Amino acid sequence: MIQIANVSKHYGSFQVLKECTTSVAKGEVIVVCGPSGSGKSTLIKCVNGLEPFQSGEIIVDGTSVGDPKTNLSKLRARVGMVFQNFELFPHMSITQNLAIAQVKVLGRSQDEAMDKGLKLLDRVGLKAHAAKYPGQLSGGQQQRVAIARALAMDPICMLFDEPTSALDPEMVNEVLDVMTELAHEGMTMMCVTHEMGFAKRVADRVIFMDQGAIVEDDSKETFFANPRSQRAQHFLAKIL
Ligand code: ATP
Ligand code: MG
Repeated sequence: MIQIANVSKHYGSFQVLKECTTSVAKGEVIVVCGPSGSGKSTLIKCVNGLEPFQSGEIIVDGTSVGDPKTNLSKLRARVGMVFQNFELFPHMSITQNLAIAQVKVLGRSQDEAMDKGLKLLDRVGLKAHAAKYPGQLSGGQQQRVAIARALAMDPICMLFDEPTSALDPEMVNEVLDVMTELAHEGMTMMCVTHEMGFAKRVADRVIFMDQGAIVEDDSKETFFANPRSQRAQHFLAKIL
């Protein structure tokens, strides 16, 4: 579903991604972890073309992301992305938040979009909040809305960038539960997260990044039992 081959990216003379190579098969769940500044967000943003890269290739469902001929808006409509800070539209109700891209990007009718939005809202346990505004919901609830909004676009895969790291601890699990359910339903997922419990339970593989490079790309069993690099060992010792 996603192939990343020898991807490098520079900001001026600073190399933020170094020859990154990995792939995500259909239905696979990959957790990406690593120290702050190691390039996790940059890598994941390259996958849906939110960040350009200078060399290498990323193919998402047969489409080359770096090819200047690729219609990136079209690609992004099919790749769901959930960020740390929810990024819901504050001046729109939850229902409007769920419907707008379906109408504007996919050309669905307002009724169809509302209907689909409400079904997904129900699925993340928030049907009763449809008429509220984002500011009236807790962080965990807003993040579940953000996930429902991404799912409303019928994505072929989902990218998560630290979806729980801005949440109060008691709200983390309600978001991880939704992600776990998605994974069990067969969604292809690439998740930047430091929730190692989630990684242990749900991930197929774990990628560890350090200074712009993928230094581990292993089954979760190998990663947690026998990380190859010292850097990953140190990292795990600190956060587990
Ligand atoms: P965190 O865990 O803190 O989210 P990260 O692994 O997601 O970190 P990135 O946000 O991908 O790291 O950033 C990787 C490196 O690239 C960092 O050193 C950062 O300072 C640098 N960087 C990111 N964006 C830019 C930019 N627009 N210009 C210059 N350097 C940047
Ligand atoms: Mg980041």
